[in-house]
Amino acid sequence: MECIFCKIIDGEIPEVKVLDEGLVVAFMDINPSSRGHMLVVPKNHAENIFEIPESDLATLIKAVKKCAGAAKDVLRAEGVTILQLNGKASDQIVPHLHIHVIPRWENDGLSVSTWEMKPGDMEEIQDIARKIREHI
Ligand code: AMP
Ligand code: ZN
Repeated sequence: MECIFCKIIDGEIPEVKVLDEGLVVAFMDINPSSRGHMLVVPKNHAENIFEIPESDLATLIKAVKKCAGAAKDVLRAEGVTILQLNGKASDQIVPHLHIHVIPRWENDGLSVSTWEMKPGDMEEIQDIARKIREHI
């Protein structure tokens, strides 16, 4: 088994754990974007949002809420960025689904949640929305 997060979950690779509860673990990111950057991870291997069962995802997001709340209370975070990537095109590196919990402070200079704001083409926006609506 090559998955690095499965190895962490199986205890083959050390981690700095903050939560171990039912189907979920959370541990510190070893390349933190900010002070207290954590990863919340399902114990059952699923590569991405397309693969994970809805019930596991529901459990996972509850753990994310706990970790975000702890960051707010313990680290006095003024905000928390929640980030989850799917596929290489979205910059996912580790192919085992994980949710980043990134504590934030005013003017911390992180660019993780900023993008260029420029008005879109409303016709195209409407067209894409219609296609998605019909698919869902
Ligand atoms: P991504 O797949 O792009 O969402 O990011 C993977 C994240 O996992 C990165 O932020 C890495 O720093 C983190 N990471 C990789 N290996 C480990 C590890 N052994 N322990 C903790 N965090 C890790
Ligand atoms: Zn895995």
